[in-house]
Amino acid sequence: MTVRATSRGAQRTSLEGTRAEVLICGASFAGLAVARELADSGARVLVLDRYEIGERQTSACACPTPWLKALGLSDSIKQELPYMSFTTPGGSVRYRLPWSWSAFDYRQLCLLLWDQCGQARFETAKVESVGQRQADGTIDVITDRGTISAPLVVDALGWRRVLSSPHYQPPQAPLSRGLEVHPDHDGSGDALDIWVERGIVRRGYGWRVPAGDEARIGVGSYDPAEHVKEPTVELAERLDRDAVRYQGNWFPHRLRKGTEDEIFFAGDSAGHCFPLSGEGIRTAFYFGIACGRELRAVVEGRNDRAAALLSYERFNAAHKRPFAIALALQRLIPVLPPWLLTAMLSLIGSQRIIDRVFGWYLNQAAPQFVDPIPAPAAATARAARTLSGASR
Ligand SMILES: Cc1cc2nc3c(=O)[nH]c(=O)nc-3n(C[C@H](O)[C@H](O)[C@H](O)COP(=O)(O)OP(=O)(O)OC[C@H]3O[C@@H](n4cnc5c(N)ncnc54)[C@H](O)[C@@H]3O)c2cc1C
Repeated sequence: MTVRATSRGAQRTSLEGTRAEVLICGASFAGLAVARELADSGARVLVLDRYEIGERQTSACACPTPWLKALGLSDSIKQELPYMSFTTPGGSVRYRLPWSWSAFDYRQLCLLLWDQCGQARFETAKVESVGQRQADGTIDVITDRGTISAPLVVDALGWRRVLSSPHYQPPQAPLSRGLEVHPDHDGSGDALDIWVERGIVRRGYGWRVPAGDEARIGVGSYDPAEHVKEPTVELAERLDRDAVRYQGNWFPHRLRKGTEDEIFFAGDSAGHCFPLSGEGIRTAFYFGIACGRELRAVVEGRNDRAAALLSYERFNAAHKRPFAIALALQRLIPVLPPWLLTAMLSLIGSQRIIDRVFGWYLNQAAPQFVDPIPAPAAATARAARTLSGASR
């Protein structure tokens, strides 16, 4: 069960009237990646989340290892998985990837990332909506702790895209849904396992991510109206595991605009989760970094907000093609006859083709995009501040 660390009631003092230069709403993968890019820029950066940093795990937490290494997050890795297996009603294939997945510890990863965010300040607050635009260009953001203003505002709040109007609302929106359980595990296994079987889920897939002392077993459906609890329990039973410690959420499967009404959107709020695979952590890092770089140019006086918005939107739009290809495959694969899918998976099985396919996939958001980790001195200072109370 999740232990709630977030302060409530009287402990939550008012933030009314707080002003920042950059207001980052959301302190998960995308929001922290944005803040990391602003480390030591000298800007007053305020990061908000309704929970403490790392408190609420939002996924199965499997990410390409080269990304975790590039970001200096290797200490959060619980288990490295060099293989992937795909099971269909016609059989199983097992691929050795040209890179590996790693299952990581969510809390530790978030805290390690926060260590790299320099002088950024963090507060817990529920972000409710956008308020007025002031004559000097600042944007009011309404939270349950009062109105906060900043000229540069980022929505990294996940699939709901809170700072847009209207919000995304399932089941009408282009969203997938996922649910997983986290039974105990003995650390065995070297593969991220995928099941593509209509008997489990009509349009989607099941997964098992071995993560050291726990396994993350779940089912995702591309159809937001389809319930995934029963299939998740069935998959856990099939794997002889207890259906315990549930965790689920929606995730987007269509790229959206990266900017709207002078606000930047990164991660799930901009639909940066890949269709088909439902992989959204790496892309949240990737687009978060791109967004953070644009913001840094503004706070350092190398650019203005309008130009930064345009540049980020262009960057976002330049990725339409791979997202469209993945969405087309997401629509196609569930309607293929199972025998054909099995045959196709076997055909891909030569190492040369696996390397090309998975190499292409990684390159759509390549780890080389990451800049070196900020200086250790800044990280150490941040770590000390986090330990002495992340929210002050
Ligand atoms: C069951 C499941 C398993 C998944 N497994 C994987 C996986 O293994 N690998 C992978 O790459 N992707 C996976 N995904 C997708 C992945 O979780 C998302 O794409 C990823 O979390 C997006 O990151 P983000 O930072 O944009 O948003 P999120 O991680 O959703 O973070 C949003 C943050 O905003 C905060 N927030 C939300 N609303 C408010 C509000 N109103 N006020 C204040 N704070 C708010 C939240 O507390 C959270 O911290 C999975 C998704 C699901 C549902």
